[in-house]
Amino acid sequence: MEKQNIRIRLLSYLVIAYMILAFFWWSILLFNKNRDAFRAKSQLMKIEMIDEGTINDTAQFLESAQYASLSKHYTRQEWMIVGEAIVFVISLVLGVYFINRGYNKEMVASQQSRNFLLSITHELKSPIASIRLVLETLLKRELPREKTTQLQGNALKETERLNTLVNNLLFSAKLESTYHANKEPLDLHELLEEIITKLSDKYPDASFTFKQEGEMPYFQGDKMGMISVALNLLENAVKYSGNGGKANIEAHLSMQGEGQIKLEIKDQGVGIPEKEKKQIFQKFYRVGNEDTRTAKGTGLGLYIVDQIVRAHSGRISVHDNVPRGSVFEILLPIA
Ligand code: ADP
Repeated sequence: MEKQNIRIRLLSYLVIAYMILAFFWWSILLFNKNRDAFRAKSQLMKIEMIDEGTINDTAQFLESAQYASLSKHYTRQEWMIVGEAIVFVISLVLGVYFINRGYNKEMVASQQSRNFLLSITHELKSPIASIRLVLETLLKRELPREKTTQLQGNALKETERLNTLVNNLLFSAKLESTYHANKEPLDLHELLEEIITKLSDKYPDASFTFKQEGEMPYFQGDKMGMISVALNLLENAVKYSGNGGKANIEAHLSMQGEGQIKLEIKDQGVGIPEKEKKQIFQKFYRVGNEDTRTAKGTGLGLYIVDQIVRAHSGRISVHDNVPRGSVFEILLPIA
């Protein structure tokens, strides 16, 4: 596929180069023909004028009004050829530039949907397979109570995973059409504490620390949206710590000046390459390659986070943590 693309590209560059060269050649030819025609016509005119007796020699002919008008006419034609050539080359270059840009966008989009299809198939299939296995085991065998409870717990976790995935999918579809933030006064401190308590149960190997600096005013925001933002960022922090769930995650709430609330989620995980720090907020974007990646996901989480933050007129950015990992920073205006 990649090879075929390179071949098509090379071929189109060759065709374009040929077109430009051919065009130059035709322009020069036209230019020369124009000059030849001018020479022939002025020669003819000179002979006719000498014949009529209006002039006696070449010097008189070059000063005559007829020659001046003929020369003006041909000079105008020369400029026309030059002008047309410039317009043509500019349009060709612009055309190639836009086609190339469109083509690159198409390629990125198709790569992303391929990634998305691969990851979503995996994300849908694996919990279904696990639940099925649990149900089959429970049907086939009489197991001790303890084992049964453990299996049921696993199946429940998998349904939760499915539920999150479907919710994310529906939410991202909604973000593009009907989402608007249902604003109500929120106590972000309380909200984050609740979420962190739940996540501490869900990820017993991860350690979460939550700090708040100073007083925090109520924030006018969409509760479901804010929960989704915090959950996505905190779960990513665990997921990309690259330590099988062992992770040190800090959430930090403070005021930035008078008018903005700042939320930082810091992890000490794998970090994000510089050139991908902006792209990770695009729909379906995931760092690396779907065939080699180990962490599960769909590339929807940060897209949803970014869209919700924007719907609250806020901004999200990411930078490197010290000594390792990432810091996601959200600024939310209070007004
Ligand atoms: P998903 O986690 O489903 O892949 P996200 O949109 O949440 O999708 O994240 C997009 C990508 O950004 C992830 O695939 C991952 O490569 C990268 N990423 C997100 N959060 C972190 C993090 N805390 N540390 C390192 N990489 C991260």
